[in-house]
Amino acid sequence: MSLPDFSRQMPLFGVQNLLGAAFEPDDRFRLFAAIVYPRLVAARPALESCYCANNGRPGVEPVLMLGISLLQFMERVPDRQAMEMVKYHLGWRLALQLELDVAAPEASSLTYFRRRLLEHEQARLAFDTVLEGLRAAGLVSRKARQRLDSTHVLGAVAAMGSVECVRETLRLALRELEGVAGLSRPEFWDRLWERYVENKLDYRLEEKALAEKHLAAGRDLAALSAWLEGQGEAVREGKQAALVKRVLGEQFEVVEGVLGKRKDRPSNAVRNPNDPAMEWSTKGKTGTKGWVGSKAQIAETVEDGEREADEPTRSFLVAMETQAATGGEPAGMQQVLESEKASGQEAPPELFVDAGYVSAEALKDAAEEGRELVGPALGSSHQPAGFRTEDFQVDVGQRRAVCPAGQANATCTRVEGREGEAATYKFGWGGACASCPLKGQCVGNKKDHRTLEVGEHHAYLQDRRREQKTEAFQKKMNQRKAIEGTISELTRGYGLRRSRYRGLPKAALQNYLIGAACNAGRWIRRAAWRMRQAARAARAAARAVGAALRPEAPAAAIGG
Ligand code: SF4
Repeated sequence: MSLPDFSRQMPLFGVQNLLGAAFEPDDRFRLFAAIVYPRLVAARPALESCYCANNGRPGVEPVLMLGISLLQFMERVPDRQAMEMVKYHLGWRLALQLELDVAAPEASSLTYFRRRLLEHEQARLAFDTVLEGLRAAGLVSRKARQRLDSTHVLGAVAAMGSVECVRETLRLALRELEGVAGLSRPEFWDRLWERYVENKLDYRLEEKALAEKHLAAGRDLAALSAWLEGQGEAVREGKQAALVKRVLGEQFEVVEGVLGKRKDRPSNAVRNPNDPAMEWSTKGKTGTKGWVGSKAQIAETVEDGEREADEPTRSFLVAMETQAATGGEPAGMQQVLESEKASGQEAPPELFVDAGYVSAEALKDAAEEGRELVGPALGSSHQPAGFRTEDFQVDVGQRRAVCPAGQANATCTRVEGREGEAATYKFGWGGACASCPLKGQCVGNKKDHRTLEVGEHHAYLQDRRREQKTEAFQKKMNQRKAIEGTISELTRGYGLRRSRYRGLPKAALQNYLIGAACNAGRWIRRAAWRMRQAARAARAAARAVGAALRPEAPAAAIGG
């Protein structure tokens, strides 16, 4: 598809001149046209790379499509409704600088536009474009202090039980294989087709009956998997066929030649074969409050100084990253820092986080890179009750540790980590514990002396645990709190909590659009506030001039 012609010239009877005066100067659509739309126009060269310059029929103007995509997330409307707004809503026309005689595109063109952005690795274009505009307007510094947190995002698929997941895997694989031309089918084909394509299971069956159905589906899955092994790579590695072997391995195991249910599924196991990238994870204790989906890592700038009473936020999002639901916070933080680097944002001199991001390695990396990771370190796990790691004074470099009773360690052994893991150090107190009055608080029931194992960079954790008890640190941590409000704004105001699309790349695209919409909304609110502030100042100045020019009232009139 080729590019349509694009003109930056404003016609005399263009929408700006016809409609502009009908909207208040601080109207959000008018401000979108004035401050956001020019940035979208500036992004056209990047959009051009997604099109063939002179081949095929001209597509819908990409600047317009980017603008509609952004407005759609700002106003939180689906594709079809967005195009109706373009058609009927004068505010949308004004914001998008779309002339009145130009027809609204088809709703499906938004789907094709998003696909085009993904195919040409431009998923973050809207986010980066708005962020660059904020930097140009002096609202975001390249080296700003930041706060970071994550939130869960529900996938666009249902969370399936294990029986349903196996049966759906079989159904989708059979459907896919049915469409492969010239494939000779196995002898069990008709039986599987009838069971999994033509029939549905009643999931209200008793637990025992469901367990039998699960095992039967497992045996069918194993038969199909064995048959697929003998097929060509194109068939074997088909989108759904490839899941057959994976789901079989995740849910079943062969013990003494008999297929049975696995006791524990891997944490990143397929939960719904319609979108295998959506993983199951849990926020609290394992087994409670779980979700199937992905995770968003959100970083925003921290504002300096106090805000005025009616002043909108000065914080803006600088990263909006998507990771698998089972991805850890340290990996998410690394992703955020790399993403910021790619967008021209420098590493934050101070990054405020919660305890999930703080580890000895993360503190060490931050210190070596000249930035500060500000967050509390989790307390160590400890014996049934009693002294924890933080109750000991440890100096790994000197191989020395002093226990709460003031005894120095008797031994210290370096334990090499497995498969790239960092080495640890094991301290022991040997005979000193036998006569220690604190033994009851320190040594477990089945042991006769205390040992302590710490990581190579334990000193960073030890210092942080000491520092986080101070009032100054706790006051500093107040800077992190506002990220909770931002996450609430993103989920309630922009629909971050639920993916509209399937697959991680599309979920990431949605998150970037949400981030761009949030930043654009905050930018517009600040611009409107500045206008109101300027108007207030002008009125006050006019009153002062009027008062100065007024002749003094006669004393008699004042006194009556
Ligand atoms: S039990 Fe051993 S390690 Fe624990 S406080 Fe007493 S001497 Fe120290």
